[in-house]
Amino acid sequence: MTKFIACKCPNCGANVKVDSNLDKATCKYCDADIIVERDMDQEIKKTINEQLKTNSKIAKIMLPIFLVIFLAITGVVIFFIVKGFSDNGVSKSTFNFTLEHAVGRRNGVTVKQDLNQIITSNKKYKDHQIYVIYNDKNTNKTEGIVEIRDSLKEIGNYQFYEYDVMIDYDDNGYINKYTITDNE
Ligand SMILES: [Zn+2]
Repeated sequence: MTKFIACKCPNCGANVKVDSNLDKATCKYCDADIIVERDMDQEIKKTINEQLKTNSKIAKIMLPIFLVIFLAITGVVIFFIVKGFSDNGVSKSTFNFTLEHAVGRRNGVTVKQDLNQIITSNKKYKDHQIYVIYNDKNTNKTEGIVEIRDSLKEIGNYQFYEYDVMIDYDDNGYINKYTITDNE
């Protein structure tokens, strides 16, 4: 788009319009040369203003893009945090740690503590269920384990009741069976 600058002919004083893109023009009344003296400050300001407008346009386009990327990253991070607390996140050693020692002769009090731990573990780690086996009972359900727990004896005749405990592991190495037998 051509812009015209209004100026006065230095020779005849006529008002003439000069194409703003040209540095030099000829007066249409007296044929004198008209040199366009540009105000450099104005030019620079104009350029800067145009640059600022472009920048704000880029900002307007980029802002939603950054927002989407930010939300996507946040989503992925939250997903992995939640997943970390879920069933699959537990390592074999962490999972087995508390029951690993529960093998051999155990008194009734500690066996009951183990069973409480198994109830909690079965609720927390749905993918790694531990079955409790005692006499004819074999269960991973809270009610079943509670039933077994409450049938165990702790102390009689001023002595701890004792049981024999055995644990088994699944194919991936996670404890999946806790077998109690009466020690008689
Ligand atoms: Zn002129």
